[in-house]
Amino acid sequence: MTDRKLEEKPACSVKSAPVPVELLCPHCKAEVEVWSDEPEAVCAECGKAVIK
Ligand SMILES: [Zn+2]
Repeated sequence: MTDRKLEEKPACSVKSAPVPVELLCPHCKAEVEVWSDEPEAVCAECGKAVIK
């Protein structure tokens, strides 16, 4: 009988799965949604870059 452990992680691990993070725009204080795999986003209110 086989006794192999199946604890190897799949190739598509959740390790790098992007999730949305809400930040406050430093320019206009609006909420800006930045994906966790993106270093920055553009504020929808003032159009400026919001850097994490
Ligand atoms: Zn803004």
